[in-house]
Amino acid sequence: MAPLPLPALHATHAGIWIAGLGEGAREASRGEAIARAAETPHIILNAPLVGQRLGYPDLSGLDLLELFAFIHPARFAVPTVAGMCRALGNAPPGGEAEAASALQVIAGALLAVLDRPDWQEREGAWTSSQSLARIGWAWAPLINARLERPERGERMLYSRLKQWEEAGDRPPPRTVVVDRSAARDRLRQLTGARSELRAGQAAMAEEATAIFAPRRQKDAPNMLLAEAGTGIGKTLAYLSPASLWSEASGGTVWVSTFTKALQRQLDAEGPRLFTDPVERARRIVVRKGRENYLCLLNLEDALQGAFSGRAAILAQLVGRWAAYSKDGDMVGGDLPGWLPSLFRRAGATALTDRRGECVYAGCPHYRRCFIERAERASRDADLVIANHALVMVNAARQREDAPGRILFDEGHHLFDAADSTFAVAFGGQEAIEMRRWIVGPEGRSRGRRRGLAARLMDVASYDEEGARALEAAVEAARALPSDGWLQRLVEGAPFGPVEQLLSEVRGMVYARSKAQEAGYGLETELAEPDGALVSQAAASMATLEALQKPLAALARRLEAVLEDAPDWLDTQARARVEGAIRGLSWRRETLAAWIALLARIGGEGDPEFVDWLAVERVDGREYDVAIHRRWLDPTRPLAAAVMAPADGVLVTSATLRGGEGWPAADARTGAVHLPNAAQHFEAESPFDYAACSEVLIVTDIKAGDVAPLAGAYARLIEAAGGGTLGLFTAVQRLKAVHARIADRLARAGLPLLAQHVDPIDAGTLVDIFRDDPRASLLGTDALRDGVDVPGESLRLVVMERVPWPRPTVLHAARRMAGGGSAYDDRVVRARLAQAFGRLIRRQGDCGLFVVLSSAFPSRLLSAFPPGVPIRRVPLEQAIARVEERLAAGVPAPLERVE
Ligand code: SF4
Repeated sequence: MAPLPLPALHATHAGIWIAGLGEGAREASRGEAIARAAETPHIILNAPLVGQRLGYPDLSGLDLLELFAFIHPARFAVPTVAGMCRALGNAPPGGEAEAASALQVIAGALLAVLDRPDWQEREGAWTSSQSLARIGWAWAPLINARLERPERGERMLYSRLKQWEEAGDRPPPRTVVVDRSAARDRLRQLTGARSELRAGQAAMAEEATAIFAPRRQKDAPNMLLAEAGTGIGKTLAYLSPASLWSEASGGTVWVSTFTKALQRQLDAEGPRLFTDPVERARRIVVRKGRENYLCLLNLEDALQGAFSGRAAILAQLVGRWAAYSKDGDMVGGDLPGWLPSLFRRAGATALTDRRGECVYAGCPHYRRCFIERAERASRDADLVIANHALVMVNAARQREDAPGRILFDEGHHLFDAADSTFAVAFGGQEAIEMRRWIVGPEGRSRGRRRGLAARLMDVASYDEEGARALEAAVEAARALPSDGWLQRLVEGAPFGPVEQLLSEVRGMVYARSKAQEAGYGLETELAEPDGALVSQAAASMATLEALQKPLAALARRLEAVLEDAPDWLDTQARARVEGAIRGLSWRRETLAAWIALLARIGGEGDPEFVDWLAVERVDGREYDVAIHRRWLDPTRPLAAAVMAPADGVLVTSATLRGGEGWPAADARTGAVHLPNAAQHFEAESPFDYAACSEVLIVTDIKAGDVAPLAGAYARLIEAAGGGTLGLFTAVQRLKAVHARIADRLARAGLPLLAQHVDPIDAGTLVDIFRDDPRASLLGTDALRDGVDVPGESLRLVVMERVPWPRPTVLHAARRMAGGGSAYDDRVVRARLAQAFGRLIRRQGDCGLFVVLSSAFPSRLLSAFPPGVPIRRVPLEQAIARVEERLAAGVPAPLERVE
C-alpha cells in the first residue's frame, strides 16, 4: 500500500519524530515540530494527545483517528499506531521513529479502502464527505478526490435506519419451576464441556434455580446471595436457569451489571445461547439509561447548523456512525470511546437526550429512535442486559413494568448504585434545568429546546383551565435561577429567593468547611444553620410550592384532554400530550423531593437521611452550589422499590461478603429489609492464589512525599517491564507521580498512560493498556473496580497507600452508624479485595500486588485470599522480588512461599 505523501508527526513521552516526504523519519525538537505543524498540516494520530505532548494544545492536522471513524464507522480499533496497524492487517512498527513513517502508511491504506468495491461502509460516504468539505474538514479534499459520486442518489441517513414495530402487550409469564438437573444440563450445553463440569459452577447453576420458583408471599421475593470466586464462571451458571425459565415461562429475565465493561462481556456470551444472529438480536437486548443513546432529533439539529466548527465535524462523523451502529449507544457501545475526546467533548453530550427534552411521538424520528427501539425490544426479549442505575431508576420512577426476575451481577456495587439513584440534590444546576424545561430558551440560547408553553400551544388554545395553569407554571418557574446565577452569587448579587438561598449556602460552606486550599469540592454538615439560611429556605420552599401547584393542575388538565379527546387531537398531538405528562410527573417528583429537603432546614433532622451543603469545584473553579440529601442506608429504598416487587432476585459477586460473614452481605444488598431471609451460596475461586500471586507491603516509603513515591513507582514498573496498574486515592498525587516518571519510562520503551492526565476516556485507556504488554496505567477508583485485563498485560498492581474512605459528611454519618473504625475497615477491605481482584483474571495469570505504605494494619490483611504469601519488605527487596518473578515482562508462575 503506497504511503500518503504528506509529512507526519509522532510525539510521545520518549520524544518527537517527523517523517518527511521520501526522506524517512528523524527526531525533531519541540519548537521545530510546532513550527512545522503550524505551517503545513501533518498526519497525526490523536491530535489532543500529540498537542499535549508538544505543549501546544491548539495542534491540528490530518488526524488518522478521524479518518478511521469516517471510513470504518462503528468498528473497534485501539487508537495507537500499533492498534491502527493491526486493525488494517499491517504489522505494527518496530520503534518510535518507524511509528512516524507508519502514520503515512496507515493514511495510504485507509484512503485506499475508498477504491475497494467491497468497502462495506460506502453508503452515505459521498454525501457526508461533501458536507464535511463545506465545513472545512482537513481530510475532505483527499477523500473527495478519490470518491466517485454514486450513480443513484444516496438514501438519507434517517431512511436507512430500521423502524421498530409496535407489538401488543406480552402475556404475563407462566408459572413454571426450573429443575436443578435441567439447569445443570443447560450449563453443560452452554459451556460445551466435553469433560466434567466444574463443581462450583454447576452447584451455582442448581442453586440459582431457586429464584425462579413461584413467589410465596407478597413483597417477599425469592432471594439468593451468591459469592462466586473469580474464575467460577458465574455468568454461565446463572444464565443456565435463566434461559430455561424464560423459554418455559415466556417471561423476561433482567441481568444487571454495574460497569459497561461487564455489560459488553455479557452481550458477548449471546452466541452461546442463540447461534442465529437474527434470533439473538431479538431475544437478547442491551439496555442503558437514555442519556447514553444518540438522539436523532438532536443530530438533525446539529447537522442543520446548530453546531459549528469542530463540533459540526463531530456531528457528521456521528451521523456516519449512526447508520452502521448496532444500537445507537454512544457511551460504551460501538461508537469508539476515543471519538468524542478528539473533539475535546465539544458537542458529544448535546447529541444525547441528557436534559429529558424528548418529545416522544411528536418527534419526526420517533419510529426510528434508538431509545424507543431498545425499550420496545426489551419488552419481548428473553434476556435484558441492563445496569444497576437503569433498573433502579425505572423502578423508582415506575417508568416501565417492574422486572419480575432480576440477576444483579457485580452485586458489591448495589449499595453505591442505590446511594446515587435515591439521592436528592437541590442546587443551581438542577434548578436551572427545571426552569429551562418549563420556560424554554431565554436570552441567547439556541437549539430546538422549547418550553412547555410552546410544546403545548394547541392544548392551551383549546382548554382555558390548562392555559391558565401553563401560564402560572411559566411565571412561577421564572423565580428559579437563570443564566449567570453563579456569577451573581460570587458577586454577592443573587436574584430571587432560590439564588438568595444558594448564596447563603455558599457563605455557610466557606465559613465552616475545612481543606479549602485543595481546590476541590467543599462541604459542611447541614446542622445549626444560620437564621438567614433558614428564612431563605422557607422563601424558596414557597417558590417551589408555587410552581408545584400549577404543574399538578396542568397534569390533571392534560389527562382530561386525553380522556375526552377533541377533534384536533391527532396521533402527533396525542403523543405530544403523553410526552408532556411523562415529563411533568418526573418534574413533580423532583419538586416534591426538593420541598421535603428544604422543609427539614431549621427543623428536626430525620435520622434516615444525611443532609449537607456543598460548593462543587474543579481546580479551584466553582461550578455548582447545592444542598444534598442521601439515605443513611440506601438499601432501604432499594429493597422497597426494586427488590420487594420482584418475584426472584439473585445478587452475585466475587466479593459479596467483603471478607466478612453473611450478615454483612445481607445488609449491603438490602436483603435484610425484606420479610423473608435470603438464601446464601458460596463457591471458592478455583485459582491457586497462593501459587500465582504474592502481596508485598513496602515499609520504607515516607508518606506524604511525592519524590520517593514517584521513584518507587518508576523502579517497580521498570522491574516488571511494564504491565503495571498503579492505583491512587488522590488525583493530585497521581498527576504529580506521572509528571515525574512518564518521560523516563517512555525512553526505556515503557509507555505510561494515566487517567485524569491523558485526554482519553478511561475505557479507551484500558483498551490501550490491554493491547500493549509493555504499557502501564495509572488511575483512581474507577480502575480499581472495573478493569478486566486477563493475561500478561496486567502482572503487577501497585497501590500508593491504604484506600481509606474520604472524610466527608456522608462518610462521618455512616461511620457513626456502622460501628466507627469497624465500618472503615469494612470499606477498606472491600476496596483491597477489588483491587487485588484485578490481578488474576483467568487460569494461568500470575502477578504481584504491592502497597507502598508501611502503615498497613495487619487486621486488614484478611482482605486478600487465604494462603496468599504476604511480606513486609523494604523497597529494594520488593523490586528484587518483582524482577525475579516478572523479568522481561514475562510472568512466570510463582513458587509457593511457605
Ligand atoms: S424520540 Fe426523543 S430521544 Fe428519540 S430521537 Fe426523537 S426527540 Fe430524540
